[in-house]
Amino acid sequence: MEFEPVIGLEVHAQLKTKTKIFCGCSAEFGAPPNSHVCPVCLGMPGVLPVLNRAVVECALRMALATGCTIARTSRFARKNYFYPDLPKGYQISQYELPIAAHGHVDLDSADGPRRIRIRRIHMEEDAGKLSHDPHRPVSRVDLNRAGVPLIEIVSEPDIGSPAEAGDYLRQLRAIVRYLEVCDGNLEEGSFRCDANVSVRPKGAAALGTRTELKNLNSFRFVEKAIEFEIERQKEVLLEGGRILQETRLWDQALGRTVPMRGKEEAHDYRYFPDPDLLPLSIEAEWIERVRGGLPELPAARKARFVEQHGLPAYDAGILTADRELADYFEECVQRVADPKTVSNWVMGPLLGLLNAGGLSAKRAPIPAAGLAGLLALVGSGAVSAKSAKAVFEEMAASGRSAEAIVAEKGLAQISDDAAIEALVREILERNPREVEAYRGGKTKLMGFFVGEAMKATRGRVNPKAVNTILSKLLNQ
Ligand code: ADP
Ligand code: MG
Ligand code: ZN
Repeated sequence: MEFEPVIGLEVHAQLKTKTKIFCGCSAEFGAPPNSHVCPVCLGMPGVLPVLNRAVVECALRMALATGCTIARTSRFARKNYFYPDLPKGYQISQYELPIAAHGHVDLDSADGPRRIRIRRIHMEEDAGKLSHDPHRPVSRVDLNRAGVPLIEIVSEPDIGSPAEAGDYLRQLRAIVRYLEVCDGNLEEGSFRCDANVSVRPKGAAALGTRTELKNLNSFRFVEKAIEFEIERQKEVLLEGGRILQETRLWDQALGRTVPMRGKEEAHDYRYFPDPDLLPLSIEAEWIERVRGGLPELPAARKARFVEQHGLPAYDAGILTADRELADYFEECVQRVADPKTVSNWVMGPLLGLLNAGGLSAKRAPIPAAGLAGLLALVGSGAVSAKSAKAVFEEMAASGRSAEAIVAEKGLAQISDDAAIEALVREILERNPREVEAYRGGKTKLMGFFVGEAMKATRGRVNPKAVNTILSKLLNQ
């Protein structure tokens, strides 16, 4: 029997607002434990939450960017459960009436375009962070994160493979980063993903029983965990077993998913509308204002890079995956006529430099104008392609301009015909035997003479020009 996997992702994106969702505490990451807290986010009795308008603005941006319908009225609910990182004993979330629904994310897959539908986007508060002492029966809680705003983006079960789950997640991350609503960091947990996975007989209409996978804090883990889980479920079914609906944890050390707890049902949470918060109504003007302020999104930018700059789709995909990198490329291309050359330099040496230093394009050791300066020198023939890489490295290390480095190090390409001719004559004079052999028919020696010229100038002479002058002198 052949099986096909069915995958749906739930993604939590931590919003980059200054303050928390229902109080004025700072939402910034990294402060000393329990220093960003107040009676509201500590869940003291008698206090009242007040919705942060900036959170709604972020949710609206994301919802509109993914083609969702905005609910004119939405509501906050209490999701009740007891856990020590949740001081109130319930999480404020949205349940029956989320702020947005029915959107989609489009992917460019190897087999053509794919649309993954978004079921809903809702706002909620984050919980605190527990840390467990490995040696003693002691746990500590830091409530700085309690009340930090999140949006949860829930996909339909439209994803058909682990690789597609990765593509969807990368696309979603690119969108939140373009919108500047979330920094999209999986490792630090500001962008978190739970994967729901089931399998069914190929072509069947009904969905199989799913498991929910947690602890997926890198793109690689997401794909590996889903991969493992698909195979595990197939095996269980082929042996005549049943899949238990449960929550499983990805164990990176074991390379497998392990059971964590039985999957809760909604009724376990005893959801009910939060009586402390009014229903949220959003005026049409607000929606239109947010829509008007959306930036060009990654998919549109990618299409434009192909169209306007004539780049291969592959290049356009890499360059636009990150908004700052795309900005860098465009700034460079304004000054250098040849987009493919710029793309090669940005995707190759520049990205290498950024990755090595863990830097964003905005902090590149060589600014876009600097790279453009180097490429202009290469384009005009003032610097050889061979020296350019060395100049690039020197620019990165010293922060100086290409012009200054080329002038100081004498790296300027020798392109003056008279100078090249003098050089070639000297080489011919030094190698009379080879000249005679060449003239006697050993024309392969051309390569030897060009090599000598390159050696004598440390690669600074234009090989084409050397070739022309050599032919002229040798065939006289
Ligand atoms: P919850 O996990 O909170 O109970 P839902 O039932 O709405 O919420 O489902 C959450 C996610 O699980 C969604 O992304 C949905 O697409 C996905 N999903 C639901 N059923 C299946 C299934 N049988 N196989 C794979 N994914 C599923
Ligand atoms: Mg779930
Ligand atoms: Zn607070």
